[in-house]
Amino acid sequence: MRKQLVQLLREKGIKDERVLGAIEAIPRHFFLDKAFERQAYEDRAFPIAAGQTISQPYTVAWQTNLLDLKKYDKVLEIGTGSAYQACVLGELGIFLFTIERQKELYDLQGKFELLKKYPNIKRFYGDGFEGLPSYGPFDKILITCGAPFIPPKLLMQLKPGGIMVVPVGDDGKQKMLRVTKDANGTITEEEMGDSLFVPMLQGRSTTG
Ligand code: SAH
Repeated sequence: MRKQLVQLLREKGIKDERVLGAIEAIPRHFFLDKAFERQAYEDRAFPIAAGQTISQPYTVAWQTNLLDLKKYDKVLEIGTGSAYQACVLGELGIFLFTIERQKELYDLQGKFELLKKYPNIKRFYGDGFEGLPSYGPFDKILITCGAPFIPPKLLMQLKPGGIMVVPVGDDGKQKMLRVTKDANGTITEEEMGDSLFVPMLQGRSTTG
C-alpha cells in the first residue's frame, strides 16, 4: 500500500526520490486513529485529536520539496500535529525543531514510540508565532497550518540564504508561499499554488 501511495505521488508530479523514499519508509497508519487505519495510504488528510488534521501525503511531499533541504540543515516546523511531516523530515538527515500549540497533541506525541527512532527531532509545546529564538536562526522554516500573515518573528529567525515555506490566507484557503532571504537579508516571496490547512492560531491551548 505504501508503494502504491508513492506511485500515486509520482504520477501527481513529486520527483524527489529522497522524499518519496521517506514516505515509503514511514508507516502512516501508526499516526491515525484506528477508525481510519485502513485508509492510511490514501492521499488524503484525516482528522487527529484536538480537532486537527494529519496533512495529505501530497502536501507533505510538496512542502518538503519546496524547502530544498540539504543534509544537516537546521529546520523549524510549526504545527507538529500527528508528527507525520516531522518524521518525513527526520528521515532526511536534518535537525528538526518542531512546535505544537495543542497540549493534547504534544502529550500524545510524547507517548508515540516511532518518534524515539528520530533523535534528530526535538519537540516543543508553544506558540509557533514566537518561534524558538534561543535555538535559531534556522536554515529552513516550514509552517504546516494556515497563517494569517508571514509571522515576523519567524522571518527574523531565518538565516540569510534561508527558505520559509508558509501557507498564507484565512482558514478557507491559503496560497503556498516560498519566502527566501538572500545574503543581504532581502526577502523575496513566490506563490507556489493553493492549499488547505487548519488555521495557525495565536497562543498555546492548555486543554488536554
Ligand atoms: N504537520 C502536521 C500537520 C498538523 S495540522 C502533521 O503532519 O500531522 C496543523 C497543526 O498546527 C495542528 O496540530 C495545530 O494545532 C497546529 N498549530 C496551529 N497554530 C499553531 C501555532 N501558533 N503554533 C504551533 N502549532 C500550531
